Amino acid sequence: MKSPIRNRKYATEITADNEGEHVRIAGWVHEKRHLGGVFFLVVRDLGGFAQVTLHKGEVEKELFERVKKVPRESVVAIEGKVKSEKKAPNGYEIIPERMEVQSEASQVLPLDTTGKVGAELDTRLDARFMDLRTERTKHIFIIRSRVLKAIRDFLDERGFIETNTPKIVSAATEGGTALFPISYFEREAFLNQSPQLYKQMLMASGFDKVYEIAPIFRAEEHDTTKHLNEATSVDIEVAFVSDKEVMALLEELIAFVYTKVMDYPGLAKLNLKLDVPKTPFRRINYDEAIKLLSEAGEEIEWGEDLSTSAEHTLGDIISELYFITDWPCAIKPFYAQPGDVEAEGKRKDICNAFDLMHPKVELASGSQRVHSYELLKRNIESKGLSADGFEFYLDSFRYGMPPHAGWGLGVERLLMSMLGIDNIREVVLFPRDRRRLAP
Ligand code: ATP
Ligand code: MG
Repeated sequence: MKSPIRNRKYATEITADNEGEHVRIAGWVHEKRHLGGVFFLVVRDLGGFAQVTLHKGEVEKELFERVKKVPRESVVAIEGKVKSEKKAPNGYEIIPERMEVQSEASQVLPLDTTGKVGAELDTRLDARFMDLRTERTKHIFIIRSRVLKAIRDFLDERGFIETNTPKIVSAATEGGTALFPISYFEREAFLNQSPQLYKQMLMASGFDKVYEIAPIFRAEEHDTTKHLNEATSVDIEVAFVSDKEVMALLEELIAFVYTKVMDYPGLAKLNLKLDVPKTPFRRINYDEAIKLLSEAGEEIEWGEDLSTSAEHTLGDIISELYFITDWPCAIKPFYAQPGDVEAEGKRKDICNAFDLMHPKVELASGSQRVHSYELLKRNIESKGLSADGFEFYLDSFRYGMPPHAGWGLGVERLLMSMLGIDNIREVVLFPRDRRRLAP
C-alpha cells in the first residue's frame, strides 16, 4: 500500500531495512505504554501499526512530555528515525524527533479500538466511526469493497451494461412487501423495494444484459438478524435466456467472489477459513424440499412459503450452497414464468423460479420472466393488484419484448454468510433497521 500524502509513509511501507532513514508517519494513537524509562506509542494507520519509542533522557524533555500526554485516538504526525527492533510490530521502531498533534481526542472514548474490551453491537453501531477503527470491522468493509469490485469485474467481463434505475417510484414492484411512502410534491411516492420492473423494461431496449448494484428499501416491521430496511441488491436481467442460464451465471459469480476474497491478506485477522464452493450447486425442487422437511418432522402444506425455521431445517440437512427450484406460482411474484407443460412436462401452477440458499439463509431469488403482455396483465390482476398502476411497465411488453430471466442477490446476505457473521448489521456501515435511523 502506498501512502497518498507526500512524504508520509504507511506503517507497512517501512521495514527494518530502512534503518537510519528519516520517515514521517501519520495516524491515530492506538496504544501508550510506559515501561521504566521507556515510553512506547503505537500509531495506527490504514496499513497497520508503527511503534514509536522514546527513551527518557535521549529525546527532548518537551517532546517526551507531550507524547506522554497525548490522549489515545488523537491524530498525530510523527517524524523520526527508523531503527530495527525485533520485538516491534513490523520489526522496526521509530525514534521520534517531532510530533504534531493534528486533532486531539477527548479523554473518554466511546469504544476501545484495541479490541481488548469488547462492546455490544448496539454500542458499536452508535459509535460506528470509531468501531471502524478496529481491525475486525475495518477488514469486513475492505472485503465488502472487494466483493463489489469482483461482482462488477465478473459481469463487465461478460458484456453486461451497468445501469441506474430510479429509487423514487409510483408503484409497488410486487404486492406483499411493505413500502416506505414519501411525499413527492403534491403526490405520494415510494422508495423502491427492487429495480425489478425497470430492469425488465430495459430488456425491451435491446441492451440484452444489464445489472445494477443499488439500495432496496423494505418497510418490513420485523427486527431480525437477516433483514435490513435499507439493503444493497445486485440485480441482473438477461434477454433471450431462461432461468437455467441465469442460475449458472449466479453460481459462477458466487464462486468467483469467494476466490477474490480468499486472496485478501486481511482474512487472517478475521480468523476465517473460506472454502470456495464447488459448482454446479445442488438443485432441489420445491416438492423435494417439502418432502425433506416432512421427513425431518416439519410439515409444510403444498403452496406454503418456507418459514425461517424450515430454511434452517433444510440447511441442516443440505449444509452447502443450493438452489430450490420450481416454486408454486402462488408464492412467487406475478412476473415469474409458469412452467412449460408441453416442453418440460411441468405443471402450470409451478413457476420457473428459484431461490439460492447459503444453506440456511436466502441469498438470491430469480426466475424466468413472463414476457407475454396478456399473461402478465392477467397475473397482476390475479394477485389482486391493479393493472392501471403498472401501465408504464406493461407498455414495454406491447412492442417487442424478448424472453428474459434474472435474479436479485443481497450483498449483505452474501457477505454475512461468506464470513460467518450472524448479524446482518455488522456488514453495513450505517444500518437502517426498525429502531435505527442514526447515525
Ligand atoms: P426473505 O424471504 O429472506 O425476507 P425476500 O424473498 O423477501 O427475502 P427478495 O424480494 O427475493 O427477498 O429479494 C432478493 C434478495 O434481496 C433476497 O434474496 C435477499 O438476499 C435480499 N433482501 C431482500 N430483502 C432484504 C432485507 N430486508 N434485508 C436484507 N436483504 C434483503
Ligand atoms: Mg426471495
